[in-house]
Amino acid sequence: MALGPVGLMFWAGRDPAETLREVESLGIETGQLGIPGDMKLDEAARQAWRTALDDTGFRLVTVFAAYKGENYADIPAVQSTVGFIPRNTREERERRTLEVSDFAAALGVPGIACHIGFVPEDPHSEDRKAVVGMVRRVCDHAANNGQTFALETGQEPARVLVDFIREVDRPNLRVNFDPANMILYGTGDPIEALDEVAPYVVSVHCKDGDWPPEGNRTALGAERALGEGAVGIERFISKLKAIGFEGPLNIEREIEDRRQRLIDIRRGAALLNRLRM
Ligand code: MG
Repeated sequence: MALGPVGLMFWAGRDPAETLREVESLGIETGQLGIPGDMKLDEAARQAWRTALDDTGFRLVTVFAAYKGENYADIPAVQSTVGFIPRNTREERERRTLEVSDFAAALGVPGIACHIGFVPEDPHSEDRKAVVGMVRRVCDHAANNGQTFALETGQEPARVLVDFIREVDRPNLRVNFDPANMILYGTGDPIEALDEVAPYVVSVHCKDGDWPPEGNRTALGAERALGEGAVGIERFISKLKAIGFEGPLNIEREIEDRRQRLIDIRRGAALLNRLRM
């Protein structure tokens, strides 16, 4: 058993062929495609992505859904705007997630994923019941498309996430493990968390970051280039080997500066290529 190749989490929105050429210029041939909330998912978009993927042989393992109106500025903003948690947008976001699943199916991608937001911890709350129902329906739709549905980690401790997954009780409900999010949201040591969620991990983000400032309960930590934050990428890769993970190591780098982003991805890829052997 061996870890998969280095991959990349990247976003649609520009010309698909140009987007894939840029990723491949980094020596990366696999990864995860994020779909902005306002992107039109019509037949023309499917066709353009299908052609670009066929022409390059690029392998997508996941399509990520994001939603209009999400705001990641700080913890209260995330709580009130992200994923399946805000009540007013639940219906519209459920519909959108099913559309993303169909889009991914048209491209032959075996999994979808998203941040569902902070899982309501009270098992008897109406919000919790509503979100459980929503995740079940997305899972069932994805299953009909032959897909897994993965929850991005980070916004709650591993134990809460595992309890939630057990309650939803769908065999294709999985985890996209992002070690940096556990740190950015201050939810726990990511390597210990990985042990707890290991049976559910279908894909990973290789991202780094620092803990939130001490004593501040609303700020998020800062994302860093791979190897420069508090994750301990060596530890993370060793743990992935230990749990028998075999998928790609998808670098995620979220800074605005496009040039610096590419430099950081190149460095990150070199680091991961050294560690994965
Ligand atoms: Mg991530």
